[in-house]
Amino acid sequence: MELKSKVLIIGGTGYLGKRLVKASLEQGHETYVLQRPEIGVDIEKIQMLLSFKKQGARLVIGSFNDHRSLVEALKLVDVVICAVSGVHFRSHQILLQLKLVEAIKEAGNIKRFLPSEFGTDPAKMVDAIEPGRVSFDDKMTVRKAIEDAGIPYTYVSANCFAGYFVGGLCQVGHILPSHDSVTLYGDGNVKSIYVDEDDIAAYTIKTIDDPRTLNKTLYLRPPANILSQREVVGLWEKLIGKEVHKTSLSEQEFLNIMKDKNYAEQVGLTHYYHIFYHGCLANFEIGKDGEEASALYPDIKYVKVEDYLKQYL
Ligand code: NDP
Repeated sequence: MELKSKVLIIGGTGYLGKRLVKASLEQGHETYVLQRPEIGVDIEKIQMLLSFKKQGARLVIGSFNDHRSLVEALKLVDVVICAVSGVHFRSHQILLQLKLVEAIKEAGNIKRFLPSEFGTDPAKMVDAIEPGRVSFDDKMTVRKAIEDAGIPYTYVSANCFAGYFVGGLCQVGHILPSHDSVTLYGDGNVKSIYVDEDDIAAYTIKTIDDPRTLNKTLYLRPPANILSQREVVGLWEKLIGKEVHKTSLSEQEFLNIMKDKNYAEQVGLTHYYHIFYHGCLANFEIGKDGEEASALYPDIKYVKVEDYLKQYL
């Protein structure tokens, strides 16, 4: 029988984290979820953790502020997946993972570490603009620490989470599709890539025991979901049986709007800028350091954008 790794999920109550817990259990892994004492009386988180336990996960108490607790948690498992928040307006949570790297070094038993990435490949973003490049720089700092320590890893480049991008027809600040109008980035013809969040979790768990992705980046590029903004809008128009009014925002107009926003908004906008004006997700071939998920795991019947959109009807 195939031996399945034991998995520790950190950030398990998060937007992606809770899906990782579900996918790990569904794929038959002994699954541990870090329970941070800092969550205090956050009833939603506590209830969610208890529901994981009901589904078969084991909760393990540990904190980024307590090195020993992290080491002890890591010793219970073979694989650790971290899905801490990438949001920058509170603190640089991505860099907390440097503490995790230290704990993994000490524990000495981890066969694979998947740090909190799940977006644009930061290695391709050396020319990203300020201030949003902080997201890529922080993720690269964590990568360097992992690689310097010789920790076996897989980086998951998940591209656009469907809930954030497809729902709002790719528009910043929208998560529901309009029946009336849409603003296109430039001509709207730059290709991007969209992935359902449960599929992201399923591909991530699939890869943890796969030697083909050891010390590589797993790119999630489901072929039917490599679409321009105009194509996403076209699929929506087909579903609602009418055309929506389109206006266009030039690259310069976008940059001008960005100047007047606060730091957190500018960080978010930087991502949209590189994705929808420069095509940073789909404008490169996957090299020898990467693998493509839908090709490696064809048994996952991924959700196509046209089907994802149906839930908004
Ligand atoms: P969330 O904002 O939902 O947060 C995830 C978890 O991080 C929280 O639930 C919490 O887990 C943990 N956390 C939050 N604050 C702290 C803290 N101060 N100390 C320790 N742990 C903390 O994250 P997402 O699911 O949105 O993001 C996960 C990853 O996905 C990130 O790398 C992000 O950049 C990426 N992402 C990619 C997107 C895309 O479109 N490609 C979109 C959104 C995110 P707990 O309380 O359970 O410990």
